[in-house]
Amino acid sequence: MDSSRAGTPSPQPSRANGNINLGPSANPNARPTDFDFLKVIGKGSYGKVLLAKRKSDGMFYAVKVLQKKSILKKKEQNHIMAERSVLLKNVQHPFLVGLRYSFQTPEKLYFVLDYVNGGELFFHLQRERRFLEPRARFYAAEVASAIGYLHSLNVIYRDLKPENILLDCQGHVVLTDFGLCKEGVEPEETTSTFCGTPEPPFYSQDVSQMYENILYQPLQIPGGQTVAACDLLQGLLHKDQRQRLGSKSDFLEIKNHVFFSPINWDDLYHKRLTPPFNPNVAGPADLKHFDPEFTQEAVSKSIGCTPDTVAGSSGTSSAFLGFSYAPEDEAILDY
Ligand code: AMP
Repeated sequence: MDSSRAGTPSPQPSRANGNINLGPSANPNARPTDFDFLKVIGKGSYGKVLLAKRKSDGMFYAVKVLQKKSILKKKEQNHIMAERSVLLKNVQHPFLVGLRYSFQTPEKLYFVLDYVNGGELFFHLQRERRFLEPRARFYAAEVASAIGYLHSLNVIYRDLKPENILLDCQGHVVLTDFGLCKEGVEPEETTSTFCGTPEPPFYSQDVSQMYENILYQPLQIPGGQTVAACDLLQGLLHKDQRQRLGSKSDFLEIKNHVFFSPINWDDLYHKRLTPPFNPNVAGPADLKHFDPEFTQEAVSKSIGCTPDTVAGSSGTSSAFLGFSYAPEDEAILDY
């Protein structure tokens, strides 16, 4: 048990008095003042991600903080709950970010995530312009492993892009941002929601032209690729989804593609393959792979404040019933 919090009054009001019901959460006492919020390290569609140090044990976490007010539109609220629900299901996979626990104040939602500081793949790709095939293969295989795992749970990801692929301190992939995930999708099923990020690889400044390109323009692959790489890309980006690589037996088709023949998938899953690039971080506080545009931003004081009451009178709280979460084993040990 965290002795520093022993005897602290629990902030869990009940549904009966119109406030938030924190449900059977094993972590009812989590609060913003448990953390020192050190730096802003990223921004997503719904809020900020901060590097935070837990006061009780000095552990570093990435805490995603979302303003309830800004996500109260029904659709967005669903995205947040989808994110949380998917994160809860998938804490076990080596290439998916782990959610430690979550909690809320009247104004804000907090996701306490494993802190991953090797930088976004986007950042590294931008710097190096392109990766050689062995490096691309390694990242693609780890991503495919994570996505294949999600599919095995009938979850589809729907927003795969270099910004959402982080590297850990050794250079392994960690997929984040489950906001556009959809659950309960059976293998033969399709969805029709218009979502995702349209930019790569049919980019045009004119957005409607870009959609046209996605639908009709033949794929142009820059020179210098092996036949296996070209075949993989053409397979994955086939206009007809029934002919697209993966449409028949999902991850198995990707795994068996010739481009991945150098990969031992069991070794990959167990992180026995040495990453082709080491982000060389000095320690958890090393922020060199984060964009200074974020890290130089002042941390808003309100993020680390625990209000006197957890349930607000703003009327926003009931939309987020059952948000707090802690894995059982941790609940017993720490929280
Ligand atoms: P998201 O809202 O999940 O898209 O996060 C926005 C940005 O915050 C990401 O693109 C990352 O740069 C950063 N970020 C998100 N999660 C983490 C994490 N667990 N560790 C470190 N940085 C993260």
